[in-house]
Amino acid sequence: MAGTVLLVEDEQSIGALVQAYLERDGHQVVWVRTGEAAMAELTRHPVRLVILDVGLPGVDGLEVCRQVRSRSSVPIIMLTARDEEADRVAGLEVGADDYVAKPFSPRELMARVKAVLRRAEPPGRDDVLQLQDVTLRRRAHEVDVAGEPVELTGKEFDLLVLLMENAGAVHSRGLLLDRVWGMEYPGETRTVDVHVGQLRRKLGRPDLIRTVRGAGYKAMRG
Ligand code: CA
Repeated sequence: MAGTVLLVEDEQSIGALVQAYLERDGHQVVWVRTGEAAMAELTRHPVRLVILDVGLPGVDGLEVCRQVRSRSSVPIIMLTARDEEADRVAGLEVGADDYVAKPFSPRELMARVKAVLRRAEPPGRDDVLQLQDVTLRRRAHEVDVAGEPVELTGKEFDLLVLLMENAGAVHSRGLLLDRVWGMEYPGETRTVDVHVGQLRRKLGRPDLIRTVRGAGYKAMRG
């Protein structure tokens, strides 16, 4: 698969370890130490995944994530020093796809990398999903509304696929968490609400995904 993994980490020991594991799994890696360098690299290479430390000198990881997201839907995994819900929600709100809290095991990070790439680059199917004036092209990872392209994060895209595939059916927050995020996020239903809110805002179609009180969410056919 084309594209490099962009690793943004200022700590030498962590960066070297993560780079070694990524390369062992067959990834091409570009490792930079600052947010400014990361933004510059993104314009130079086709990047298929960004691994982004929150605590960076200068522009911090959350701000880098926000800037990347304003121009690209490349998957982003954040490395956060604190395993606190406030930090994770802040990261979700700026568009990260997943988190690994430090200290982490390299194996855990590699499992997340695999999962994020699998969701972002599904094999085989090239179906186009259509609902109202929203068109989603699965393989191209593109969404447009009335012909205008909309940039979504990997998780937002996965969530929209699931809702559009089963339009008219109610999905509980628990089911959406399980299907889109996997079981590593038990009980964090706020995550689903944040992403649905972002989808509504980005698509500019607040009625496309309806909240069903006490039950969950459903996509509306029209
Ligand atoms: Ca750091």
